[in-house]
Amino acid sequence: MDNMYDNPVNVGFKIPEKVSLKAKQERTIVKIAEVEAGGSDIIIIAGPCAVESSEQLFETARAVKSGGAKILRGGAFKPRTSPYSFQGLGEEGLKLLAQIRKETGIPVVTEVMDTRQVELVASYADMIQIGSRNMQNYPLLKEAGRCKKPVLLKRGMMATIEEFLLAAEYVLSQGNDQVILCERGIRTFETSTRNTLDLSAVPMLKHLTHLPVIVDPSHGTGLRWMVPAMSKAAVAVGADGLIIEVHNHPEKALCDGHQSLSLDEFSQLMTDLKKIAQATGRYIS
Ligand code: PEP
Ligand code: MN
Repeated sequence: MDNMYDNPVNVGFKIPEKVSLKAKQERTIVKIAEVEAGGSDIIIIAGPCAVESSEQLFETARAVKSGGAKILRGGAFKPRTSPYSFQGLGEEGLKLLAQIRKETGIPVVTEVMDTRQVELVASYADMIQIGSRNMQNYPLLKEAGRCKKPVLLKRGMMATIEEFLLAAEYVLSQGNDQVILCERGIRTFETSTRNTLDLSAVPMLKHLTHLPVIVDPSHGTGLRWMVPAMSKAAVAVGADGLIIEVHNHPEKALCDGHQSLSLDEFSQLMTDLKKIAQATGRYIS
């Protein structure tokens, strides 16, 4: 019988088989078009919370690309707490993402919320995102596991590390090992930040799995001014990448403007991050 303590460390649970370092010793490199995550390069994903218009997307995309972002983010289907909030542009948003990719060559990641839309979203995106609220949507995880695109899996806001790994295991168990894990903050008793960004999840996950681990300091804090500090900290603890919300006019954003960096703030942060990366023996190219 398997011993639950038959782990690299005694974490008190059995590491799911396919995501474990026991199953695969070398680290998985996730390929998003030509971009490789999980190697020595630290991958920066940046862009607006939601695709709002072609002007907003294109201006933001060009700026983050020239600042060194390797992948563009932008939600077309948005999981909003209120049904009256902007829900995203839907397929029109996907088309805009595909258009900017065609023009600039930057790969794009966008969220899928519904099993019935996995095929549609995967046909436009270079990587599909499963959001925090859907981390335990098992039919969606299985569908993502059957699709041929890499999957950015965000930690559920109430999920333990074990539950997070089991969610990733669902995707791998369907034959797709191209999974990036994303720490995006969890709910605690703390109210001064939107979530509590659990940076200890980074070394823990990297200790337990072969999958790349990235951090979302935007949803992790909910505060624009805090994003640079937590981005630097995330790189310092060994994250393989960051996903950062950036908007050409944060004050006018239809979604999460208060936690979005301006184009100038993003550019300054990239300069600072390169130094931290280098100090840890890694690169932001
Ligand atoms: C997002 O990245 O757009 C998002 C909705 O994040 P999360 O699922 O982590 O809340
Ligand atoms: Mn957001």
